[in-house]
Amino acid sequence: MRIGAHVDPGDPLAEAAARKAEVVQFFLADPKGWKAPEARADADALRTAQVEIYVHAPYVVNVATTNNRIRIPSRKLLLSHATAAATVGAKGLIVHGGHVGKGDDVAVGFDNWRKTFAFAAESGGFATPILIENTAGGDNAWARRFDALARLWDVIGSYDVGFCLDTCHAHAGGEALLDVVDRVKAITGRIDLVHANNSRDAFDSGADRHDNLAQGMIDPELLVAVVRAAGAPVVVETPGGVDGQGKDIAFLRDRVTA
Ligand SMILES: [Zn+2]
Repeated sequence: MRIGAHVDPGDPLAEAAARKAEVVQFFLADPKGWKAPEARADADALRTAQVEIYVHAPYVVNVATTNNRIRIPSRKLLLSHATAAATVGAKGLIVHGGHVGKGDDVAVGFDNWRKTFAFAAESGGFATPILIENTAGGDNAWARRFDALARLWDVIGSYDVGFCLDTCHAHAGGEALLDVVDRVKAITGRIDLVHANNSRDAFDSGADRHDNLAQGMIDPELLVAVVRAAGAPVVVETPGGVDGQGKDIAFLRDRVTA
């Protein structure tokens, strides 16, 4: 099982080596901005590296929204990130499930996700597999509660779409971690990546504050059990830089392979 971390995009391979990570995830552009990614000088090195690469899409992407002025640029940004992620050999492009506003018709939001894949298909499809990640907050978020996730998958499941399970988001979003892998797989049929994070906040708090694995509100052994059951590559998105994440990686590697 490959274990790694979300790192600064400056030199992801050096960051991986410093943490003894076998996987790295990073942003290709400002996560809070709308700029398309720029070509990277280290694209060849990343593409041929032993380290497995994942790219996280900007947080501003919301392809579900009924607001045209966000939805249309979101589709384009997601497509441009999928193209750029392929140049660095990324195994997946992680994107949050998105949401509609209060009072909006949720069915429209689900259909907007379908249209996103249809839009991409017109230009040959996404160049990198899209992995939709469960989120911690938002009453109208698709990928917080699994009943909504099931409705989303009814609409987009026929496209080749993957899933990224975030343990902090599941806990804070109100989905128990016990048997979470089985419940997700019953809906999506797959888990492509695990974001292994502890949570500073209580179950179902709706807050999204990651903590290091051995501390926080989730029993660390429960995190280990989820990682083991998922059987997918793992990325920690925890605080503390090289030291904090290095310890989290070692923590998982010791226990998951024991
Ligand atoms: Zn995450």
